[in-house]
Amino acid sequence: MTTNGFTVAIDGPAASGKGTISKAVAAHFGFAHLDTGLLYRAVGAKVLLGVDAVAAASGLVPDDLDGDALRTPEIAQEASKVAALPDVRAALVDFQRSFAARAGGAVLDGRDIGTVICPGAQVKLFVIADAKVRARRRFAELSGKGIETTFDAVLADVQARDARDMGRADAPLRPAEDAVQIDTSDMKIADAVAAAVALIEAKRAGPS
Ligand code: C5P
Repeated sequence: MTTNGFTVAIDGPAASGKGTISKAVAAHFGFAHLDTGLLYRAVGAKVLLGVDAVAAASGLVPDDLDGDALRTPEIAQEASKVAALPDVRAALVDFQRSFAARAGGAVLDGRDIGTVICPGAQVKLFVIADAKVRARRRFAELSGKGIETTFDAVLADVQARDARDMGRADAPLRPAEDAVQIDTSDMKIADAVAAAVALIEAKRAGPS
């Protein structure tokens, strides 16, 4: 696939730090950023309201992608269920690829960006962290927003989503062969961002 600009693909499981790294990298380089999880969350939210999943995916509009409203545990679980449906995934491909090809450069984060959506991305990162570390982060984030839950419930949610996302037949969560892995379990976020920025700078400076 051809991209007009420079594309950074950042994949990884829930709460691995990929969203934070993506935002920081996009701000650093002046690239546009798309959190592709929001697309699946928006579809999941509509399904919870009774809309057909494929119809929801085909009819998404920018106003549907309100990040704050979509970041609940219920919507996360529903998102990972609709994300296993090939017709839902297919309906979302063109939008993601157009975003990736924008001239000023783009960062997309998700589960299948390096493997399926943008296999030609100039930089591919796969961000991981221990499940308990990820659950602690997500628990703190949800508690901070006043969402009542427990660490054990969040850990179970994270593990259920990991299993569904890695186990599905269509576009499972896995690193692209040429992805660079960053394990954020014991890393400060600033160090993870610095590692990502250094990789991208090296790629931009080198032969294309
Ligand atoms: O990244 P986030 O946690 O918001 O993603 C919600 C769900 O959307 C994931 O658990 C996954 O099932 C799905 N997803 C996906 N492919 C992507 C991004 C998200 O299947 N590129």
